[in-house]
Amino acid sequence: MILAAFSIAMRYAGPKDALFLGIVRKNFGCSHYIVGRDQAGVGRYYDPYEAHRIFDAFPIGITPVRYEETFFCRRCGWMATEKTCPHPTSDRLDTSQTRIRRELAAGNPPPSELVRPEVAAILREPDVLVV
Ligand SMILES: [Zn+2]
Repeated sequence: MILAAFSIAMRYAGPKDALFLGIVRKNFGCSHYIVGRDQAGVGRYYDPYEAHRIFDAFPIGITPVRYEETFFCRRCGWMATEKTCPHPTSDRLDTSQTRIRRELAAGNPPPSELVRPEVAAILREPDVLVV
């Protein structure tokens, strides 16, 4: 088994982009393809799990490994999903990178469970953060 990264520019074309990337990986000999929540999505344009479902409509000969939304659970003490964490949403921290960038840009430090304070300090420096 080989777990490998494949460097290609994201086109942000939603589920069709995810399918395209799956076809490319299959052509490189991959047997499985990790499909994230809102893979290749832009904002809220696509349903967050539309890229998961397109592999059911177009079986391309690669096994999609569907990842759900992840979050940090304060009670578990690590990253989790609905499948791995039984705790209520009040124990969960949203890991949205967009939200974290906005908080940093507004001068608000993100939770230390998500971004180390030393890293947050660097990211808050002028000309470092890209929003
Ligand atoms: Zn938990």
